[in-house]
Amino acid sequence: MRRLVKGCAIIFAVSLGLTSCKDKPKQELETDLAIAENIAEPDVYEFGFNLNDFIVKRDTVKSGDSFGQILERNNIGFSKIYKIAEKTRDSFDIRKIQIGKPYTLLCAKDSLETPKCFIYQPNKEEYVVVNFQDSIHAYTSRKPIKYVEKEYSGIIKSNISQTLADDGLSLILAYKMSDIYAWTIDFTRLQKGDRFKVIYTDKYIDDTIYAGIEKIKAAYFLHNTEPFYAFEYETDTVNGTVDFYNEEAKTLRRAFLKAPVEYKRISSRFNLNRKLALYGNRVRAHKGTDFAASIGTPIVATANGVVTKSSYTGGNGNYVKIRHNKVYETQYLHMQKRKVKVGDFVKQGDVIGWVGMTGHTTGPHVCYRFWKNGVQVDPFKQKLPAAEPISEDLKDNYLQYIKPIKIQMDAIPLLEGNKLEEEQNLITQAY
Ligand SMILES: [Zn+2]
Repeated sequence: MRRLVKGCAIIFAVSLGLTSCKDKPKQELETDLAIAENIAEPDVYEFGFNLNDFIVKRDTVKSGDSFGQILERNNIGFSKIYKIAEKTRDSFDIRKIQIGKPYTLLCAKDSLETPKCFIYQPNKEEYVVVNFQDSIHAYTSRKPIKYVEKEYSGIIKSNISQTLADDGLSLILAYKMSDIYAWTIDFTRLQKGDRFKVIYTDKYIDDTIYAGIEKIKAAYFLHNTEPFYAFEYETDTVNGTVDFYNEEAKTLRRAFLKAPVEYKRISSRFNLNRKLALYGNRVRAHKGTDFAASIGTPIVATANGVVTKSSYTGGNGNYVKIRHNKVYETQYLHMQKRKVKVGDFVKQGDVIGWVGMTGHTTGPHVCYRFWKNGVQVDPFKQKLPAAEPISEDLKDNYLQYIKPIKIQMDAIPLLEGNKLEEEQNLITQAY
C-alpha cells in the first residue's frame, strides 16, 4: 500500500515538473503540492536509514556531555545504557565522543520518542552508528563521496596563490602545485605572465559538502616560456605510491626533501668542529642540522623508506631512523611523540612524529641526521640524487596512460597575457 501511495507522489512530482507555471494558475499548483504532501513524504535517506521512519533529533556534543548522559536525557534507562556500552565497546569507544561534534538520534515515532539509534560524526566523512533498535550493535561507515574533475587555466600576476585566490580556488591547489614543481620551478621567482593549467579532482561528501581537492591529475607550467608538464602516476599499487613525471617519463622530484619540518630557522648546522661553551669550549662535533620549530609541528620523512628505529634514549629523546636504500639513511631526534614503528614503510612527506624537546636539547627543534654509507654527512653539501626514475617495465604503461591526458591538457586554452582581465574567470569548468 505504502509503495503505491509513494508512486502517486512521484507522478504528482513529475507532472508538476512538466507543466510550467505558465500553463497552470498558481493557485492550482499549490493545491497539487498540498495533496502530494498529504499522500506521503518523499523518502530521505541518511546514514543508511530512511529518516521518515523516525523522529530525527540532531545536536552536537556539549561540554560535560557523555554518551550516557545524552541517552539518559532522552529517556533511556541506566541499565540499557550500560548494556549498549558493553555490547558495542569493541566497535565504538563511547569515551571518544568529542565536544562540538554532531550527533543524531533516531527515535521511535510514538509518544515516548524512545531513541533507537545514536549516530556520531567524528568528521565530515565518517559516521558511527550505535544501533539498539533490536540487537545492539555498532559500526563505522562513510558518507558517499563524489569526485568531480575540473580544469583550470591561470596566469601569474604576482604569485600562484594570489592567482588562484582571485578565482575563488582553494589555496591547497597552490600548495599542491608548488609541491609538484618543488624541484623544477622556484615558486618564489615566478615571472609575471607565467601561465599554468591544471586538471584536478574536487571532492564532495553526500553530493553537496565541498571537501577539498582530492588530487591533481596533471599540471602544465609555462615558466620563462619553457613548458613543464607533470602527470600523476601510481608506481606502486600495493603501497599506493604516486609520483609526478613529465611527458618523457622523467621524474620531477629529488629523492630527498630539503628539510623534515616547516622550520622557523636553522639553529645549528652540521659542523664537525663545533665548540660549545657548555663543554669548556671543547670540540663537540655536531653531526646534524637543527631545524627550530614549535612543539607539535609535524615532522615528515624526507624520502621514501623503511623505519629501522623508533625508540627513546637519554640523549636523542624520542627518535626515528629510516633506511631509504643501500646508501642513505636519515634520523630525526628530540621528538615530542613518534608516529611510526620499526618496519613501517613511509613515503616522502609522511608524518613520522612531532617536534618536541625530549633528550638533550635546550629548545624545541628537530636534529636531522643524514647518513651516507653509514657515515653522517651534511645533507646541504650533498649532490642529492634524483628520485627513483620510473622503472623500465612501467615506462611504456606510463606513456600510454598519459597520452589522452596530455591531449586533454593541450586542449585547455592558455590564457593570453593581453586578454588577462576578461578571460581570467571563464575557464573554470566542471564536466
Ligand atoms: Zn642537533
